[in-house]
Amino acid sequence: MDCRQLLIDAGLRMINASLTVETWGNISFRDISTGNIYITPSGMDYVACRCDDILVYKLDGAKLEGERKPSIELDLHLSIMRSRPEINAVIHTHPVYSMVFACLKQNIPLIMDEAAQSLGEEIRVAEYALPGSPELAANCVAALGENGYACLLQSHGAVCIGESMKAAFRTAKVLELTAQIYHMCRQIGEPVPISKENIAVMRDYFRNKYGQGK
Ligand SMILES: [Zn+2]
Repeated sequence: MDCRQLLIDAGLRMINASLTVETWGNISFRDISTGNIYITPSGMDYVACRCDDILVYKLDGAKLEGERKPSIELDLHLSIMRSRPEINAVIHTHPVYSMVFACLKQNIPLIMDEAAQSLGEEIRVAEYALPGSPELAANCVAALGENGYACLLQSHGAVCIGESMKAAFRTAKVLELTAQIYHMCRQIGEPVPISKENIAVMRDYFRNKYGQGK
C-alpha cells in the first residue's frame, strides 16, 4: 500500500479507536525500500487529511516532499527511527487511562500476559519537556530504551512503536488496556507484576514463535 494512504488510514483508525481526540497525536512510517520517513501534518483534522497533506523526510531530517507544516513532534519521530532501526511505525496518542499515569508520573508495570508479550518492558514515563522540543524527543528515546515498545510522556500522552503499522497499533491498544486494568486493580488492591524472567520468555515467544507459520 502507498505510504501516504497508510498514514491517512492510520489517522482515522487512531481517532475511531479513541486513542486521541480532535487533531492531537501524530503518526509516522518508515518506507523500508527507501528509508524515507512519512509523517502526518501539524494540527489537521484526521478525517479531512488527504495523501497530499502527508510530508516526507530523510532520516537526517531533510525534507523531501510536502507543502504542509509537519507534526510538531517530527523530531521525536525521527529520533526514535534513528535510535531503533528495527522500528518502522511510531504512533503518538493521548488515550485516557494512559494519560492518568502520565499525569501522575507513575510507571505502569506489566501485570498481564498480553502486556508482557507485546509491550516489552515496564512502561516508563519520560521526563517532562515542552511539546515539540528536542528535550522531549531525547527523553522519549531514553524512556523507550533498547527494548521497550511504548512509553508515556509526562502530563502529555503516550508513544507506541512497532516493526509495522499493525504492530504499533497492537502496542497502542494493549498499552491503553493495560493502563485501564491497572487503574481498576488499584481501586481494590495491589496488582502483582509478572516476573522479569517470565516477561523475557513471553516476549521471545510472541516475537519469534507465536501465530501460524513460525
Ligand atoms: Zn501530543
